[in-house]
Amino acid sequence: MQADAAQTLSYRGRFAPSPTGPLHQGSLLAAVASYLDAKAHKGKWLVRIEDIDPLREIPHAASAILKSLDAHGLHWDESVVYQSQRQVLYQDVLATLAACGSTYTCACSRSELEVSAGRHQRTCGIHGASQQSPPFAVRFRVPHQTGKFEDCIQGAVPYTLHSGTDDFVLQRKEGFYAYQLAVTADDREQGITHVIRGLDLLHSTPLQRLIFQSLHHNPPEYGHFLLLTDAKGRKLSKQTHARPVDDQQPMKTLYHVLLALGIQRQEIDQASTIQELLEAGIQGWNRENIAAKTNLVEADYWHAEGKA
Ligand code: GLU
Repeated sequence: MQADAAQTLSYRGRFAPSPTGPLHQGSLLAAVASYLDAKAHKGKWLVRIEDIDPLREIPHAASAILKSLDAHGLHWDESVVYQSQRQVLYQDVLATLAACGSTYTCACSRSELEVSAGRHQRTCGIHGASQQSPPFAVRFRVPHQTGKFEDCIQGAVPYTLHSGTDDFVLQRKEGFYAYQLAVTADDREQGITHVIRGLDLLHSTPLQRLIFQSLHHNPPEYGHFLLLTDAKGRKLSKQTHARPVDDQQPMKTLYHVLLALGIQRQEIDQASTIQELLEAGIQGWNRENIAAKTNLVEADYWHAEGKA
């Protein structure tokens, strides 16, 4: 694979929230983890708003997220990128993938695929039918593949991909570009060298690496950390009613996030400003510490008394 100029330059990391709600402790942790990893490697930290799915977005969530990042001292190094403004890029990348035979059009409905255990109808583009009548989705042609990739936090991650049933959507029937296409197009275009994100996205990594491979471009390094859970062991998310972070108490929240990321209490206890806290976090950052954590959050972790 050809090395791109951007990839031979220094570290470029990113935090890429979807504006489906305000920042909660779980998504703040993702922001801080990617920030600390970037800064500990003397890299740049970018923010990209993944507002590509209008059906899931909440009005003003993007500006609320940016405000919270700012309140917690997490300042991005380049202008914020909005996926909603990058349709031309996605169209180009999709055309490139189509030209190299990596895609096909698919008019199968979700319910048809469910009934047939993911197998496509005979008329679908997967079987070589030249053109479907709209509406159709555009899918990536996944090869049968067993492999592994090196995760910079988890170590070697094995995976198996199934041709046909794992063929993921790049452009939805309604015309929207899908997450896998947009995120890969952006990571490539922005010269991202490291993607540090939660384990809930681990299954996407082999798929995103496949897209990079089709584009003849080296993928970034990926590192996935354990997610914050609530008392019932559920991932903190809007669905589990995670509370928004309190922008009025950034020290307290950051202190707990740093502890959850494996920074030692004695390393951050002396910090009296947000900048000192983040600086101490950068000094204490160690990927192995997060990998070793099995449970990032105790039952009432976020209610525990911390730094005021
Ligand atoms: N936008 C995705 C999310 O909020 C994250 C994408 C990524 O980090 O690759 O879950």
